[in-house]
Amino acid sequence: MIRQLMRRFRPRSEVAAQHAFIERCACCGGTEFESHAVLWPDLVREWKLSAAEAAYIDRQQGTACRGCHSSLRSIALATAIMRYAGFTGTFAAWVRSPAAGRLAVLELNGAGNLTSFLRHLPGHVEKSYPEVDMLAMPFADGAFDLVVHSDTLEHVPDPVRGLSECRRVLRSGGACCFTVPVVIGRTSRSRTGLPPSFHGAPRANMADYRVETEYGADAWTHVIEAGFSECRIVAAEHPSALAFTAVW
Ligand SMILES: [Zn+2]
Repeated sequence: MIRQLMRRFRPRSEVAAQHAFIERCACCGGTEFESHAVLWPDLVREWKLSAAEAAYIDRQQGTACRGCHSSLRSIALATAIMRYAGFTGTFAAWVRSPAAGRLAVLELNGAGNLTSFLRHLPGHVEKSYPEVDMLAMPFADGAFDLVVHSDTLEHVPDPVRGLSECRRVLRSGGACCFTVPVVIGRTSRSRTGLPPSFHGAPRANMADYRVETEYGADAWTHVIEAGFSECRIVAAEHPSALAFTAVW
């Protein structure tokens, strides 16, 4: 019995190692990828990342399609958006589709490489954070069908309220698709009271990049606490390319 249980609950690192690397870019259909290291020693130390955790976060941030330069996190986000929309082609085809053309889409803070795709949508509104405050957005209730943000929520001082604002500006049935860096083998922790930690280039200690929440396996709870009825976790590659779809 114990042996059966051990087989069922394999070590997380082993499970991750068996998950195949992505083979096709969801954005353009390209099949060639290139990788470079992104994390720096101070951040790895501040986040107390193991070598395996640093490797998959590096992959999330530093692996990109050679064709369209979308990073794995952009590819994960594009996959989540198309899943929600029920579209099975590439993201490049989706943004030109009649159904996508009817959507009002708020892109908050330049969702990585997806901006160049999303600009094809007639109903695309592009705003940057913190110029537009996710905690008090200047939009009417129900103004959008889709809200998109990428690696932004971890910088918002009150992420549940930020997601709640995203829900407020969505129509009923709309969705907020987003990414945050997730360390899957731990729970989330607020950095309140901890020494400041920053994303972006080392020593570029701008307030915009200050990390407020280090997300872990319970990241989905913020979605539900914000009032959404459902949280989908979409994996383009596990655990290095995860995106969330918060459904109104
Ligand atoms: Zn591509």
